[in-house]
This record gives sequence, C-alpha cells and structure tokens, in this order.
Amino acid sequence: MTNDRYLHIWPSGGDLTEAYLADEEIEAEGWWCAACRSPRPETKKINIRINSKKPENNPVCRISGFFVGIVSLELLDILDPEDIKNCLYLGRVEDCNGFPLADWMTVRARNRVIVRGSSHASTRLCDACGYRPYFAMPPNYIFPPISSKFAVSQSQLSGLVFSADYANRLDGIRMKGVTVEELPVFKAPLDGLGEFSN
Ligand SMILES: [Zn+2]
Repeated sequence: MTNDRYLHIWPSGGDLTEAYLADEEIEAEGWWCAACRSPRPETKKINIRINSKKPENNPVCRISGFFVGIVSLELLDILDPEDIKNCLYLGRVEDCNGFPLADWMTVRARNRVIVRGSSHASTRLCDACGYRPYFAMPPNYIFPPISSKFAVSQSQLSGLVFSADYANRLDGIRMKGVTVEELPVFKAPLDGLGEFSN
C-alpha cells in the first residue's frame, strides 16, 4: 500500500539563510560535494553553523548554496516519534556565535524523493558524487510512488514530504517563506524525462 496524496512543505522564498563557513571550509569537512553543491548521497547527520541568529524561513529552511535542510522542533513535534526515528537524521544547528539553536535541527531523510514538475525540466547525475540534481517548473507531483516504508521523505527542494493525513496537524504552526502543497501521485511523469529513482 502506498499513499495517493502527499503533503510537501518546502522553503520557497524570503531572505536567505547562509552558512557561517566558506565553500572551501565546508568542502573540507567531507560531507558536501562542491561539484553539484549538495550533500553527498551517503551523508547522514550534518552539524552546521549559520551566519545569523536564527533560520529565516519557518518551519523548514534551507542553507543557501549548500542544500542543507533545517526543520523546526515545532514541525518535528507533529510527526510520530517512530517515523522520525525510522526516517530522519537530525543534526545540530548553531547560530553565528556558535550557540546551539535548541528549536532547530538540520534534517536528512533516509529516503530522498524527487518531486517532479511539468515543464522546463532538467536532471543529470553528478560525476563527482552520484547525486542527481533535478529542476522543473510546477505543477508538482510524485512519480514513481513512494515506498510505504518511508512515512517521511526529503525532497530535492530541501522540503519534507509526508502523508497528506498530517495536513490537519499543521494548524497553529507559523509559516514564513514556505510553500505547503498537496502532491498527487501520477502514473507517468509530465516532464518528459522518464523514470528514475535517483
Ligand atoms: Zn556531487
């Protein structure tokens, strides 16, 4: 059994949240690929320091230029603890002074979903790390279906994808600079790029 509709929350606008360290310093840590500017596929937990007092978007944010996702505890709190344990790697976020931000975690999911779009689509495999960047214009949807093993996945847009049943738990969470969208599962892609899982 797989869901037929998903909820996708992703940072889509607002001010940028930047990393404290420069590209070369982060590349030297080993988990980030400078060729495609993304965490390497095998990367699990990431600890990172941002160049401001707190992330700009809420409840999900992205560190500009590094494709590192950040999630607020407020959002993690609406997810079932079992789902967090089985699906996510959470790491530490520090502010510009090096103090841990108690209300925020970096987030990596065991399962990565490419949220597919409909036009102006492009994708390739990174020669250096094997990651697959993907870009397309909306409308967005899921293809192929997500395995039911994964209650929470991460999108290439540094967002989180989970069952649409969670939609009614979002009430009261402050939203800033994010898009919340319900995604259908399509039987075929509309972007002309065929099937790929990564
Ligand atoms: Zn790469």
